[in-house]
Amino acid sequence: MKRGHFGEFGGRYVPEMLIPVLEELEQTYLEVKKDKKFQKEFKDLLKTYCGRPTPLTFAQNLSEKLGGAKIYLKNEGLNLTGAHKITHCIGQALLAKRMSKTRLIAETGAGQHGVATATVAARFGFSCTVYMGEVDIQRQRPNVFLMEQLGAEVIPVSFGQKTLKDAVNAALKDYIENVKTTHYVLGSVVGPHPFPTINRDFQSVVGKEIRKQINKVEQRLPDYVIACVGGGSNAIGAFTDFIHESSVRLLGVEAGGKGKEIGENATRFPTGSIGVIEGYKSYFLQDSDGNLQKTHSISAGLDYPGIGPQLSDLQNSGRVKFTSVTDKEALEAFRLLAQTEGIIPALESAHAVAEAIKLAPKLNKDQVIVVNLSGRGDKDLFIIAKSFRDKNFFQFLKDYIKEEENEFD
Ligand SMILES: *Cc1c(COP(=O)(O)O)cnc(C)c1O
Repeated sequence: MKRGHFGEFGGRYVPEMLIPVLEELEQTYLEVKKDKKFQKEFKDLLKTYCGRPTPLTFAQNLSEKLGGAKIYLKNEGLNLTGAHKITHCIGQALLAKRMSKTRLIAETGAGQHGVATATVAARFGFSCTVYMGEVDIQRQRPNVFLMEQLGAEVIPVSFGQKTLKDAVNAALKDYIENVKTTHYVLGSVVGPHPFPTINRDFQSVVGKEIRKQINKVEQRLPDYVIACVGGGSNAIGAFTDFIHESSVRLLGVEAGGKGKEIGENATRFPTGSIGVIEGYKSYFLQDSDGNLQKTHSISAGLDYPGIGPQLSDLQNSGRVKFTSVTDKEALEAFRLLAQTEGIIPALESAHAVAEAIKLAPKLNKDQVIVVNLSGRGDKDLFIIAKSFRDKNFFQFLKDYIKEEENEFD
């Protein structure tokens, strides 16, 4: 296999100017992989800062209600910043420190990756710039506020559609101009080599924890591991330790959105096609000119037209099967999980839960499903209140604003 490739996918399709810095990153990464001190520091931070290992929780009430397989939840929502993303951000911050960089940059759509990046920048003493489309800033003000509280500068991107892909271009331009001082923190297992490998390795701690934890309670491997797939970092993190265990079925869940038409969902399988975009070869939702297509999902984190190259390869080989869950099904799963288990999942993670809800009744009572619950739902408060048409919530907001205005008068 060619370096940085997963079958025919992956690679490094970037402007000439970026090759040296990506080489530097790869070299540094190869060094730290063998460096016990680095690995210990990473492990210690995961434990004392991030909150690892996250618990594996038996969803007894939900399992009994569905009357089939036992469902376990790997609760990544209990990580610092509320999702799995902080894990690979800590890893990349340590790499940046090793390369003597002083500045972190990132692009963000929903703002989750921006918050995780701003968090590690604060903790490790980097200055931090986050690029975000103007449209996304309007939609995701709470995360912009959090990034600013963490000391990051959020730069609005006002060209193109003013959303994620334009923020990527702005961040790339910055990276090219500032390669000496700056590390570009990539938010998932996407982008040019070595990012998909680096982020996968950092996230693979999740699958290792699952193996230990399920072995302790069930003395066996799970029959299924289910994860939602945006770029694919939480999924590949949960899957990696089981890829060579043929008895463990791996299921990736994409955003079925509100329909099958173009722009109504984010299902790269089966609607996407192979292309080279944003520095790597993979499946993309694209038009016949190779431009990224509009996508939709109720969950901001699954609303992405590309997918990590290794997952494209695992789909091709049949090792990972992909399904999709609609906005409506995800909302129903959200509510059912909240009310049976007292766990409020992120809407992304609710997609994986919805798939488990469909699957469990078809399985035997001695079978085991592990759902990777990539994050918690606090961040989705506004979207959920709107989806459930909670009038009282919006009355609260109106009253809150009125009170604020009176105080400013
Ligand atoms: C960002 C995010 C995702 C999607 O990203 P992946 O790289 O596919 O994991 C899923 N769940 C949560 C909670 C997220 O914040």
